[in-house]
Amino acid sequence: MADKLTRREMIRALTTGGLFTAGSMTPLAALFAQQLGPAVRGPQPPEPALPKAPATLIDGKVVQPVRELPVLRKTRILVVGGGPAGTAAALAAQRQGVEVTMVERYGHLGGLATGGLVLAIFPIYNRDGKQVIRGIGEEMMQRLDKLKFGIVDRNKPPLYPVVDAEAFKYVLADMTLQSGMHAYLNCWGVDAIIDDSGAVRGAVFESKSGRQAILADIVIDASGDGDIYAAAGAAFTKVKDNIGLVSRMGNMDEVDMTGGAEAEHASTEPVRKRPTHGAPVTQLDGKLGSQTPAPRVNWLNMKGPVADGLDVAELTSLELKHRIALWQNLEKVRQKPGHEDAFLLETAPQMGVRLTRLLDGVQILTEDMMKNGTTFKDVIGYSGAFANVAEFQIPYGALVPKKTENVLVAGRCIAADFAVANITRLIPVCWVTGEAAGIAATLCVQDQCTPRNVDIAKLQNILRQTGVYLG
Ligand SMILES: Cc1cc2nc3c(=O)[nH]c(=O)nc-3n(C[C@H](O)[C@H](O)[C@H](O)COP(=O)(O)OP(=O)(O)OC[C@H]3O[C@@H](n4cnc5c(N)ncnc54)[C@H](O)[C@@H]3O)c2cc1C
Repeated sequence: MADKLTRREMIRALTTGGLFTAGSMTPLAALFAQQLGPAVRGPQPPEPALPKAPATLIDGKVVQPVRELPVLRKTRILVVGGGPAGTAAALAAQRQGVEVTMVERYGHLGGLATGGLVLAIFPIYNRDGKQVIRGIGEEMMQRLDKLKFGIVDRNKPPLYPVVDAEAFKYVLADMTLQSGMHAYLNCWGVDAIIDDSGAVRGAVFESKSGRQAILADIVIDASGDGDIYAAAGAAFTKVKDNIGLVSRMGNMDEVDMTGGAEAEHASTEPVRKRPTHGAPVTQLDGKLGSQTPAPRVNWLNMKGPVADGLDVAELTSLELKHRIALWQNLEKVRQKPGHEDAFLLETAPQMGVRLTRLLDGVQILTEDMMKNGTTFKDVIGYSGAFANVAEFQIPYGALVPKKTENVLVAGRCIAADFAVANITRLIPVCWVTGEAAGIAATLCVQDQCTPRNVDIAKLQNILRQTGVYLG
């Protein structure tokens, strides 16, 4: 791309080619150089109007007329959601040389691991302290390790690593830019596109550019909530779970036993400077939280009440109440000697929704399988040991809808029963399912097959080559 672009060329490049283009050594500098072209401040020449067909009120009913949608992009693999699962999926697929487009509803990548301020990377070790989650997740942690205040307690089992949310956003933006994939931020997947047979052919998105379609050979639903597979008509179980709002407090030089990782027994070690087994906060009452990589900054995990993460009214009411609770907690913290100058550094920009939809997959991972250590011919990775559960295998079948074609699922909404999903939803396990879904999608494209017909031996070979632990 030329160094100097007209504003019109710049807009065209951003809307047709995606926000991110093939990486260079200094992608941000290059991007800013382009943006600093001869753009004119103030009124702009008119642009062609997009087709309009607003919803109409007819006899008290709101009717959306049929309308043709502009196709924003045609791609090989479309990944919806840029959280731990989505970024792992998109990066893994792009590295296999297949063109990928990733779409994320917020302005940053990382999902709950960054925007949700969920900072603890847990569980990654087996019972013996061996790291069983590697692959792309390990690479992300290695990159964080090179940054000052990026991550603490790497390779110190049974302590789990804790990351800095902003460092992690930076790492993911850089990996995405360098990968050469196409990505759209601030773009919300609102519908699936299906063909006559019901197979998924893409998704519909809303953004400031309006309602647009992206067509794809294979779609990976990494939205966490199964938004796309649900819209396509795939079967699922709806669940409710605790919904909290995580926050960070500044000017803290002490921690307490609350607000650490989700696991209540992440470690059997005695409590040290940073608690290793802090339970999520149920009641806020002057809680101090846990240490983060940033100096004098604590994070306060919050359990919150059981609620419906798909109900906008419940989410709104909870978010408002959580903000009040967090401020009241801060005021109690300030009453404690030595904490008078504590401040609320930030509340998570995105609510802490744990589980909403669980896929009805080719293989539903059950609590019995998890506890009995069931092995699977189509294993695509492991979960680390969690509380009193040993490490366990994840089958490929848990990423494939029972009936719906052309869609793969990764992250917290895969096919698992509620007990197992409480572990498969954790960040490192989402990396595992994301990476496997990404590589499986590339095999679908290369071998011209559907996700349920993927050559498992081939998939496992590539996963092993990329460093994924399969036992
Ligand atoms: C309060 C709380 C505490 C937790 N504590 C821990 C912990 O200590 N350790 C741990 O490992 N895990 C923890 N977790 C779990 C973990 O953070 C999440 O389950 C994990 O991030 C899920 O990854 P994901 O990629 O599946 O989904 P998400 O992280 O939810 O990412 C999904 C992404 O998709 C985007 N998206 C959603 N819908 C759409 C759409 N329709 N269109 C476009 N984009 C969309 C979202 O904006 C998001 O970026 C916790 C979770 C919560 C809520």
